[in-house]
Amino acid sequence: MGFLRTAALVVLGISAFTFVALFGRLPAFRRTPIAFLHRALWVYIPNGIASADSRLFDGRVVHFCSRSGNYILGENHPLVLIFFVSLLVIGECIFLPSAWPRISGAHRFWVPMVVILPYVLLYACVVTKPFITPENHAKEMKRYPYDRVLFHPGHKCPTCDFLKPARSKHCSFCRACISRHDHHCVWLMNCVGANNYVYFLSLLLSLSVLLSYGSIMGHFLLHQTRDELVPVNMRAAKQNWTTYLNIWSVVIAADPRVGGIFLLMLMTAPLAVAFLAYHTYLIWAGMTTNESAKWSDWKEDVADGLVFKAKRSEVDGASFKSDSHDLRWPMYSDQILVLDADPPTEGSVTVPDSNRVSHCGGHGAAIDTRWMPVHSMRDVDNIYDLGFWDNLRDSVGLSVRKRPQL
Ligand SMILES: [Zn+2]
Ligand SMILES: [Zn+2]
Repeated sequence: MGFLRTAALVVLGISAFTFVALFGRLPAFRRTPIAFLHRALWVYIPNGIASADSRLFDGRVVHFCSRSGNYILGENHPLVLIFFVSLLVIGECIFLPSAWPRISGAHRFWVPMVVILPYVLLYACVVTKPFITPENHAKEMKRYPYDRVLFHPGHKCPTCDFLKPARSKHCSFCRACISRHDHHCVWLMNCVGANNYVYFLSLLLSLSVLLSYGSIMGHFLLHQTRDELVPVNMRAAKQNWTTYLNIWSVVIAADPRVGGIFLLMLMTAPLAVAFLAYHTYLIWAGMTTNESAKWSDWKEDVADGLVFKAKRSEVDGASFKSDSHDLRWPMYSDQILVLDADPPTEGSVTVPDSNRVSHCGGHGAAIDTRWMPVHSMRDVDNIYDLGFWDNLRDSVGLSVRKRPQL
C-alpha cells in the first residue's frame, strides 16, 4: 500500500505541477483556480522570495539566481526538450524489455510503430521553422487578409523590419516573426506556426495514442502478474477498497518496471489527450492559441458594453473588397469594430488601422445610427473561421475551398 500510494502521489504531484506551470496561462483557464495557481507559481511566490531576500540578504540570492533564471525563462534553450526526450527514452527502456516477451504477435507489429512515430514527428516539429524571412515575406503577406479586429495592416515589426502579415506574431525566443503564430513551445524549442502545425497536431495525436495504448497494455500485463500472484479464490472474493489497493500495491511491487511506467502513462495520457482536444476546439473555432487570447479580450469588452459595430462600406466609404485582392483566402468581412466607452457620434472618425474612434462632434453630438452596440460574440465575424473541415485543411497546409463572403 505504501509504495503504491507514494508512487501515485509523486506522479500525480509532478503531473499537476507541470500542467499548472505550462498551461495555466491559457485563456481557457482564465478566472479559474488553475490560472490563480499559475500566477502564484510565476508571480506571487517569486515576488515573496525576492522581498524576503532583499530584507535578509540584501538581494544577493535573487541576483545569483536571476542569471540562471534568465537563461531558463528568457532563452530558447534545449533543457525542456532534453527532459521530454529523456522521459520518453527512459520510460520505454524500462517498460519495453519487460513487456515485449509477454505480448502477442499483433502487438509486436504495432508497438514499434507507436513508439517510433512520436520521435519522427518531434524531429519534424523541431527542425521545421515557421519563420517569416525577407525571402518569403511577399508570399506570407498574401496568406491571409487582415480582419481589422485582431490584425490590422500597416504595422511594422521593429526587429524584423518588415510589415507584419495577418495572423503573424514576433517571437522573442525564436527572434523571428512567425507565420500563423500559434504559440512558442518550450517542449519543441520552436514556435508552432504555419509550416509545422501539421506535425505538431500529429505529434499530439501520436503521443495520445502512445500513452493510451501503453496504459491499456500496462493494465493487461499487470492483470497477468496479479493472476500469477493472487489465488483465484481471493480474486473472486468480495473486496473492500483497502484489500483492492493492497493487492495492486503487491502486484506493482512485484512487477515494478511495468507498474511504475503504467502509473506514469496513466497520469500523463490525460494531459496529451486534453491538449489534443484543446487544439481540435481551436480548429473548430477558427483560431490559433495566440488569437484565442485576443478573442478572450474582445469577449470581455463585449460583456462590458464597450464594443460597437458598423459596416466598413458605409462608415469608411472605402472599397473594402480591395482587401481580398490577390489573396488566397476566400473570406473577407465588411465589419468594422471600435472599442469605446461611448457610442460613436455624428462626425466621429475611426482611427485608421486600429479599433479606436476619434470623437470630433464634441459633447451633446447625436449618436451615429450606423453604429450598433455588440451584445454577443455571435455578432462578430471571424473571417479566419471557414468551418471545421476547411479550418483543418488550412491549419495543416492544404488549400481551402471557395466560400461565399460574409
Ligand atoms: Zn519580427
Ligand atoms: Zn518562438
